[in-house]
Amino acid sequence: GGADIQPLQAVDSASFDDIGGLSKYIDALKEMIFFPLLYPEFFASYHITPPRGVLLCGPPGTGKTLIARALACAASKAGQKVSFYMRKGADVLSKWVGEAERQLKLLFEEAQKNQPSIIFFDEIDGLAPVRSSNQEQIHNSIVSTLLALMDGLDSRGQVVLIGATNRIDAIDGALRRPGRFDREFKFPLPGCEARSEILDIHTRKWKHAPSDELRMELASSCVGYCGADLKTLCTEAAICAFREKYPQVYTSDDQFLIDVDSVKVEKYHFTEAMS
Ligand code: ATP
Repeated sequence: GGADIQPLQAVDSASFDDIGGLSKYIDALKEMIFFPLLYPEFFASYHITPPRGVLLCGPPGTGKTLIARALACAASKAGQKVSFYMRKGADVLSKWVGEAERQLKLLFEEAQKNQPSIIFFDEIDGLAPVRSSNQEQIHNSIVSTLLALMDGLDSRGQVVLIGATNRIDAIDGALRRPGRFDREFKFPLPGCEARSEILDIHTRKWKHAPSDELRMELASSCVGYCGADLKTLCTEAAICAFREKYPQVYTSDDQFLIDVDSVKVEKYHFTEAMS
């Protein structure tokens, strides 16, 4: 029913400051999505049609979901209510014929009622895969429903769609035509500078955050790590430090009164976490 159509706004708060190495993407998305949502009159007065849909593509864990959440949260911080709806592509699919279409229609109705809104489809390739012959009819029907719903949106851009995918080629081409998901952002794996920034984000609230030198050193040895990997590395390093300082909590039930403030994460804990 309609009960599961709920804005996720402010559930997981995220800020642009929590995103490392993607400032160009943030600026571009602000201009393409955020400002048109907040200042529709400006865009109308210049006869500019903001995009209805953008695609974020790139490897897993590179911040696609994070950036979408940050966009929604930034709007509420600015005192504007922007509703945020998040769906996983494959979750919309259903074994019941017509149910996915019905869910999509409900979602769009809800988003329009509560506009300005952002609809975020994570793993959109699962929702609108390239039409394969055996499941052709199901996909045809879902894709054409989505296309019709997008085409039916007001051109002033008060409802915007963001789709995220790891596999751009797996998305039905019809969704990528003008007026639909017609802007694409290719998220890269972070380079060395970006990795250092991301490490900073995930350690800067620590009592003893790693020095700039240590961060740069770590960043240069983490080639191929995505943002999510770097976050895991920081978590692991903290756990390594804890384990080393208080081995007794693993073996004894009455050793829980410990001074956690005395745990300090050192360089070798990261090295340990990395191996
Ligand atoms: P997926 O394709 O798996 O959905 P994604 O690109 O959407 O991946 P996120 O869910 O945004 O990845 O990233 C997972 C977590 O990794 C984030 O919540 C964040 O903690 C961390 N992370 C990823 N990228 C960055 C980044 N650029 N800066 C800071 N943290 C990041």
